[in-house]
Amino acid sequence: MDMVDPDCGFNTLLLHGVKAEYPHGATHVPIYQSSAFRHENAEDLEKIFTNKSVGYSYTRINNPTIEDFEKRMTLLEGGIGGVACSSGMSAIFNALMNILQSGDEVVASAGLYGGTVELFEELNAFGITTRYVERNEPDAYEALINDKTRVVFAETMGNPKLDVTDIEAVAKVAHSHELPLIIDNTTATPMLVKPLSLGADVVVHSSSKYINGNSDAISGVLICGAKYKWAEHFDGLKPYKRFGPFAYLAKLRNGLFRNTGGCLSPQNAFLNILGLETLGLRVERQCSNALALAKYLDEADESFDVNYPGLDGNAYHELAKRQLGGRYGAIVTVRVGSKERAFSIMNNLKLPYILSNIGDTKTLVLHPASTIAVHLSKEEQIQSGVYDDLIRISVGIEDIEDLKKDFEQAIAGSLI
Ligand SMILES: *Cc1c(COP(=O)(O)O)cnc(C)c1O
Repeated sequence: MDMVDPDCGFNTLLLHGVKAEYPHGATHVPIYQSSAFRHENAEDLEKIFTNKSVGYSYTRINNPTIEDFEKRMTLLEGGIGGVACSSGMSAIFNALMNILQSGDEVVASAGLYGGTVELFEELNAFGITTRYVERNEPDAYEALINDKTRVVFAETMGNPKLDVTDIEAVAKVAHSHELPLIIDNTTATPMLVKPLSLGADVVVHSSSKYINGNSDAISGVLICGAKYKWAEHFDGLKPYKRFGPFAYLAKLRNGLFRNTGGCLSPQNAFLNILGLETLGLRVERQCSNALALAKYLDEADESFDVNYPGLDGNAYHELAKRQLGGRYGAIVTVRVGSKERAFSIMNNLKLPYILSNIGDTKTLVLHPASTIAVHLSKEEQIQSGVYDDLIRISVGIEDIEDLKKDFEQAIAGSLI
């Protein structure tokens, strides 16, 4: 495939990185809304099923529209290949279970997305245990690794704790024990950081969020890097050794992924491809809005406790500045004193939607303690950076003055 200059800027890469070579000069990939693909003769289909030739057979395994989305994400994250899934949770499940088996342990950061914490609990029934670091610092990962540990898992920026993982340092720790590092890059996106370039071995996304951008489709994707020698470290990958650096992806697509059936729909792949064109513009605006809103909230009421890595004095400010290229993501959390006041401010807001999602073009607010973290114990909530008086804001692309004005009236009219 004829690629643009790989050193071009991020927005150019989004638009021209994968050349539009579609039928009839179409500028968008066709939506191949077809469950299966017919072939001229039985021999051709045999070759596809036995990996002797590339092609399409059945959309649960692969599909040209979905593959186009996978190519784009692979390019943006700087990987060697990717697998798109029905949701972010499905991508995380596939990324981990492609290598894990009963008796294995995961070492993970504590600020993880609640759904991921619940997934790790589900895995207990299959003999897989997760140990969480309490402080998101490289030496804390080191301390939890033992001879049963098979993988290290972390989020670039925890949701909603907003702790920032030092990916390069944690990758060094993992690799010194010959373990792979899997990074959930949902909250940062490749616009802010490419974890594979810092040493991560697999990147996962809930592409339902910033990648899609418009909140019109649930999806996930995982992207594999080139360096980790999978077949040397995991017995289950030995049969795939001949695929070299592609062993992980080959095993996944020929095994767990196709057999658990968490494929993306072609229509949703198409929506993600459309959304990707504006990822750079959206995230740039969302980050600058978030920084301005965080600063505004920090001064709006001296009792407020604002958490945003872009603020001076935030524990992760220096690391975020270095690792995320001077942008700090678009999620801000604020503790306002009580659950009642949190609810009152949320209810007074006119622009933001009250809903459990992030990464929309519109600003969204949520009370995590009574929603996404309601199934966690008080202790687990605090470990996840969730408090009764905390509001999470996913900042959108509105005009910042309108957002500030809206928060001003909502705070002024709130119950204290
Ligand atoms: C939303 C989210 C997920 C789960 O993704 P779904 O697409 O909702 O399944 C995983 N990780 C993070 C960080 C998320 O924000």
